[in-house]
Amino acid sequence: MNPTDLAYARERDARDELARFRERFHFDDPDLIYLDGNSLGRLPAATPPLVRDIVEAQWGARLIRGWNEGWIDLNQRVGAKIAQLLGAQPDEVTIADSTSVNLYKLTLAALHARPGRAKIVTDDMNFPSDLYIFQGAARSAPGPCRVVVVESPDGVHGPVEGLLAAIDQDTALVSLSHTCFKSAYTYDMARINEHAHRVGALTLWDLSHSAGSVPVRLNASAADLAVGCTYKYLNGGPGAPAFLYVRRDLQESLHNPISGWFGQRNAFDFGLAYRPAPGLQRFLTGTPPILSIAPIEVGVDLLLEAGMERIREKSIAQTEYLIALWREWLAPLGFSMNSPADAAFRGSHISLGHPDAWRIDQALIQEMNVLPDFRKPDNIRLGIAPLYTSFADIHAAMSRLRRVVVERRHEKYPAEAGGVT
Ligand SMILES: *Cc1c(COP(=O)(O)O)cnc(C)c1O
Repeated sequence: MNPTDLAYARERDARDELARFRERFHFDDPDLIYLDGNSLGRLPAATPPLVRDIVEAQWGARLIRGWNEGWIDLNQRVGAKIAQLLGAQPDEVTIADSTSVNLYKLTLAALHARPGRAKIVTDDMNFPSDLYIFQGAARSAPGPCRVVVVESPDGVHGPVEGLLAAIDQDTALVSLSHTCFKSAYTYDMARINEHAHRVGALTLWDLSHSAGSVPVRLNASAADLAVGCTYKYLNGGPGAPAFLYVRRDLQESLHNPISGWFGQRNAFDFGLAYRPAPGLQRFLTGTPPILSIAPIEVGVDLLLEAGMERIREKSIAQTEYLIALWREWLAPLGFSMNSPADAAFRGSHISLGHPDAWRIDQALIQEMNVLPDFRKPDNIRLGIAPLYTSFADIHAAMSRLRRVVVERRHEKYPAEAGGVT
């Protein structure tokens, strides 16, 4: 059978062990092809009844007693489950704040743990907010500090050699996105960690596009610190709080720069001098948002039930399938592949480049009922979430994409990008 036949996609779906997870999610419009699970994961079907229960039965009926009936441990309980996805220990991952804020806390903690070193090393594939955070943290560093941004050789692959050359005795911290948001290039974490440790630097990984999409082995690769989103592949809901990871043997020697009462030893003694709690708890700051943390557990439970190895296997099969359709249908129409060809260095999304990407995106959304996203300058980003993306979805998205260009439907849209993309 030819991969361009819909029957081929249907056959792959029929043989897919994870296909049954699709019905564990809410589908409002069965014709909508959603390829943006890497920006905002779908709503799990079990989430609305859970939220209703927390609001009505817990908050409504139990009021402040709720804190002693499960709320106070919620971030730690969900963190311990996320740890299983990330190859970490249960007491090394917790939930707090946003990814950006956690990145700030851990960056500054690392800079204070390596005084006398003046460099944060990162790359130009990183998420811009991460660079803004490093710039802000550098201004609050204990001494002079600069952010060294190593350039990718081609805008698709991470600059591994350049990074290894830049990481030296003057480096306090190396911080990278494990899977890069534009191209989905995925670093060999162990290799960077090993080199950083050899010169005494710490490492801090942003796992926003990795958690729930690629197997992460924080312990086995000797990662020091990590942060990441829960609203992308973990399906925790819009703006759901982030996770943070601190390797166990570093927890006592690092200090949270935003020292608040939830990181205080015996917070309810209300002593006036801050004394950090032992272990990971010191990286908390204020009251955890219970209504926002609870749905994360639903999404993480689905991933644990499916198993990261099977999810990764399906993700590779689906990105390979999408690439095969690109080669047949879209390469001849002027689309380039802006993601690594080698699946070993690729996460779960594919970026296709086209000079008219923005206008094509608009036509897809408005006329074709496909939701991809757009990343400047010319990337149509197609996110695959193996728990609910089917092979038939990929077939439909690619054939609709082809139709837009063949029928020149995009030409009537304005060329300027705007709004949330
Ligand atoms: C999505 C994303 C973020 C978002 O951070 P927030 O604080 O949740 O806005 C940060 N870093 C990376 C790499 C991301 O992909």
